[in-house]
Amino acid sequence: MQNDIIVLFGKPGAGKGTQLSGFLEGREEQFEVLSVGDLLRKAKKDQTKLGKMAAPYMDSGKLVPDEIINGIVIAGLKSATKPVFTDGFPRTIKQSEAMLKAGLHPIVIDFEVDDDIVIQRAMDRIVCEDCGEAYTLNKFKHPKIDGICDKCGGKLVRRSDDTLEVVKKRLVEYERKTLPVLDFFENHHIHVYTINNSLPEAAQQFATLLI
Ligand code: AMP
Repeated sequence: MQNDIIVLFGKPGAGKGTQLSGFLEGREEQFEVLSVGDLLRKAKKDQTKLGKMAAPYMDSGKLVPDEIINGIVIAGLKSATKPVFTDGFPRTIKQSEAMLKAGLHPIVIDFEVDDDIVIQRAMDRIVCEDCGEAYTLNKFKHPKIDGICDKCGGKLVRRSDDTLEVVKKRLVEYERKTLPVLDFFENHHIHVYTINNSLPEAAQQFATLLI
């Protein structure tokens, strides 16, 4: 795949980050990863200006305003020196427009899953508060040592927005603001590959697209 930007698209909790983490094992040096959610959670934890501003949106399942996200992400994408995966960008038409306006033309991989699976996954999820790696409370991707990140030794915690109420709100935001981005891509001749991420062969399909 020649494109330098690979957009991982799909509902919150569709498993984008988990698929990416599996694919990157042994390939960490070849790619950069820009996970907007991880970046914002880190800013929130460190109580930076960005974190304080983003917190009320994140905690209520809303998207952070476009101007703020675009300012951070577009600069990051432009300065990348390797192919970049974006996990959680673009999530609105305005973000997509900003990306194209900056001359960045991605390929897009859309991970499809039903809402009930998304909700179940969010309820089962724990994340590293230092590096953002996600694990499951069930045995699908359980850490080797309970409560400790396999990758960096950080503490595993529940995300504050992984409550049933907030997950449902995030799904509504997705339907309203993010789903229309697929039509935007089509209208701008940006190819969207679709993977059914509830099937066991999803990881293989993902790797096949990328290698
Ligand atoms: P995620 O880790 O991708 O589920 O994102 C967690 C939260 O971060 C979202 O519910 C939003 O509040 C915020 N967020 C992540 N990506 C974006 C984005 N592209 N635009 C606006 N807000 C975002």
